[in-house]
Amino acid sequence: MSTKDTSNLPTWDLSDLYAGIDDPKLEADLDGLVDQAVAFEKKYKGRISREDVTAELLCTALEDYEVLLKAQYKPGAFANLLFSTDTIDSQRGALLQRTREVGSAASTHLIFFDLEIGEMPQETFDRVIGDPQLVPYRHYLEHERVLASHRLSEIEEKILEETANTRGRAFGRLFTEISSRQTFRVDDKELTQSELLALFYDPKRETRKTASAALTNTLKQDAHVLNFILNTLFHEKQIMDGLRNFPSPEADRHLDNEIDEIVVNTVVDVCVSNYGIVADYYHLKRRLLGLDELTHYDRYAPITGEQTKIPFDEAQEIVLDSFGQFSTQLAEMAEPFFSKRWIDAELKAGKQSGAYCAGITPDLHPYVFMNYVGEPRYVMTLAHELGHGIHDVLAGKQNLFNYHPVLPLAETASTFGEMLVFDKLQATLSSSQERLALLCGKIEDTFATVFRQIAMYRFEQRAHRLRREKGEQPAEAYCELWQNTMQEMFGDSLILGDEHKWWWLYIPHIIRTPFYVYAYAFGELLVLSLYAQYQQEGPSFVPRYFDLLSAGSSASPAELVANMGFDITSPDFWQAGCDLIRQEVEEAKKLA
Ligand SMILES: [Zn+2]
Repeated sequence: MSTKDTSNLPTWDLSDLYAGIDDPKLEADLDGLVDQAVAFEKKYKGRISREDVTAELLCTALEDYEVLLKAQYKPGAFANLLFSTDTIDSQRGALLQRTREVGSAASTHLIFFDLEIGEMPQETFDRVIGDPQLVPYRHYLEHERVLASHRLSEIEEKILEETANTRGRAFGRLFTEISSRQTFRVDDKELTQSELLALFYDPKRETRKTASAALTNTLKQDAHVLNFILNTLFHEKQIMDGLRNFPSPEADRHLDNEIDEIVVNTVVDVCVSNYGIVADYYHLKRRLLGLDELTHYDRYAPITGEQTKIPFDEAQEIVLDSFGQFSTQLAEMAEPFFSKRWIDAELKAGKQSGAYCAGITPDLHPYVFMNYVGEPRYVMTLAHELGHGIHDVLAGKQNLFNYHPVLPLAETASTFGEMLVFDKLQATLSSSQERLALLCGKIEDTFATVFRQIAMYRFEQRAHRLRREKGEQPAEAYCELWQNTMQEMFGDSLILGDEHKWWWLYIPHIIRTPFYVYAYAFGELLVLSLYAQYQQEGPSFVPRYFDLLSAGSSASPAELVANMGFDITSPDFWQAGCDLIRQEVEEAKKLA
């Protein structure tokens, strides 16, 4: 092993997008967006919804539309990437806002297009949709027809788009800015959120306890404004759902995800009925830690005292090697993320916490964002985000409409990437105690992805309904819901302390993407089954797996997964995934 140094972390080279924030090309691109949108509107408005529309005209329009959207996504993505590595620099915040404003101004001239797709008479649609030219756009067009019934008139849609940056989007940005500026006082130091959350993995209980108090203190200080943001966004969603005729708070997410409510409910029910696995594991963990009772700050406590820190270059080696063992093609696709600096892993104040991968358009490569602290689990995060990156690279052969995977499949390659890296990472650890610790870490991550996300989904369901039925709520009301909903998952194996009730205040998904979270559980359980199939089948699995990823969002999740031989409507399929988690817990019991 090389030196245990986690400095020298990579930062992005964004020059494939723009030379910098002052690049004149950026300004020129932004300047051109509205004119291009106006030209598109002039060329096609009134022609798409006509009875005599031809497949050829529709196809040309879709190609032009795609070019326009790509031109819009590029400066927007650049601004987002710059902003997430430094949310304090006001120039970056201003650029982000400007790209959003220009984007909205351009979008108002494009709204007619999807509306007209929806307005096409059914006979006309049936006549053109079978045309071979439209094959690459077929799924998009069919989905747009479904969405059309929830759209308002063009003028109403324009007003909504034009005011979005001062409504929900603005509150979302405010949440990000507040969260990224938050500091947490531990002893005499002010820590960032990433640094603080890392302390929950500290072997010393006292340190975890202090971190827990620090998190709670800061969240409580900001509770007024964060709760205001949440109440406002909940109410905005209620209004929008009413205007758009969605019967429940979750309905628009399911429609976007192209997944039936029944399937989501099946996933949720199966997971809830398997909460016992979580309780079972935490009873074991309590014994391993030698404690009488576990509480919220013991959840991620390592079962070993010291944890190996893995330098970033070694993490790179582990990830590339394990990907290479699955398929050389997989390793080759991951390699440029390192050599061409598509990864930003540095730790610094004002940088957003967490990790993500940004796939922009099919003709641009993705970028990986993370905070690399160095313990083995950060190697898993790296593998996770690179998995997303590979998914985007493979889906790069699709057009823009089919490029971004639909949410329920969005976590497939990322979770699969983690699975591939796990064994290799295990093998790099010298002591059996550390290997058990890594297995426990993996189990806890799986819980966090499956059961915790389902619990959060249930919290969101209850919180939205509470706001709808009883009006604006004080933070304490959401605290109580949060506490009860999360406690259900642990049974009597871990008792959440009073401080924990405030911790919904730092979950970004609740603010940014309502009901997103069940997609994580969906993805993880799916991948457990996929991985089991890979282990049974070996190399012949690889091309089918690549086909699944390459398909992007060109078909619904149910169709794509059916191609892999699975039926997502069956509770047995989801139970099989839960059974695999139970097996891991049994393995940990044996190792212990
Ligand atoms: Zn992910």
